[in-house]
Amino acid sequence: MKLVSVDVRLVAEPPVSPAFQWRNGLPGSDSSHTAAWLVLTTDDGHRGYGYCRRGLILADVVDRRIREELVGVDPLRREWLWHRLWELDRIEEFPLYVQGVVDDALWDLAGKIADLPVHELIGSYRDAIPAYASTVTFGSISEYLEVADQCLEVGYPAIKLHAWGDARKDAKLCTALRAHVGDEVPLMYDGSAAFDLSDAIYLGKALSESNYDWYEEPMREFSVTAYRSLADRVSVPLLVAETSDGAHMNTGDFIASGCATSVRTGSTFKGGITGALRIAHLADSYLMRAEIHGGGLPNTHLCMAIPNTTYYESLVDSNPVRRAPEVDATGHVHAPKGPGMGYEQVWQADEPPIANRL
Ligand SMILES: [Mg+2]
Repeated sequence: MKLVSVDVRLVAEPPVSPAFQWRNGLPGSDSSHTAAWLVLTTDDGHRGYGYCRRGLILADVVDRRIREELVGVDPLRREWLWHRLWELDRIEEFPLYVQGVVDDALWDLAGKIADLPVHELIGSYRDAIPAYASTVTFGSISEYLEVADQCLEVGYPAIKLHAWGDARKDAKLCTALRAHVGDEVPLMYDGSAAFDLSDAIYLGKALSESNYDWYEEPMREFSVTAYRSLADRVSVPLLVAETSDGAHMNTGDFIASGCATSVRTGSTFKGGITGALRIAHLADSYLMRAEIHGGGLPNTHLCMAIPNTTYYESLVDSNPVRRAPEVDATGHVHAPKGPGMGYEQVWQADEPPIANRL
């Protein structure tokens, strides 16, 4: 079996509605933009899909570098192709998500060839997982408390804040939320790399006092030493290495430094299912959790196949709160059924919806 075509189908995505905010200094939700489906086709007619929010960038790197690597190759040679993309990364410095789109499409194909859901092909561990409500940035402490009440009411068992990126204001919010929901609700905080070391320490102490389960990405993840210094000064567990480059190789250095209580993995920034599993296994060697970053079908399969992970990340992007369609009333996400990733079941068609296609 071999790959005979590698296509990029551009898709016009409408703006997120209603629009939402991230922390100060970062753009909010996407306006209308061009996304893409990567479509891999084999000589016996199987099709594998990978989704990319940055369609024009994907089209460029596929046209210049990736198509010629894939055409004519057996799609089951995922490890070979994963290594080829890392080799090409040396000359291209691919955006972090590019390897993941290609690898996910290869896993979609592999599942269809085996007639198994991807998580069963990897080896399933569970058939459902709790989802935490991962908030966007809201306007005030009182609005966050209102949103938290709604999250709990609709079934989410745990809440993670993305707040303003102001260490003092965010510390007040985190303390107020703990007082509001009581001691039993698991709470987490995500800094989206807003802080320097001093502010990260200030906020980290507040999170320790309020018994937050994890403190995620307070600083850019370029300096492992800065994270080591933070870990020496705060007792809240640090969840590290979400947006750093280099997949398991970089995560290994975070772990070796001693700063990590748990590490990020996931399909989007870690080289697809293949890279995400490497990180999960690496973390498991140290009895450490590999928490999965972001939602979507590839990450759902990972949630079902990685033992040392806690939650599915479900974005809560509006007030009133809308529970994501994949999360049930008890706050759980269930294992996808059907072969491959299962996009076709979401589309209820054999191909991506054509309505949005350019
Ligand atoms: Mg994050």
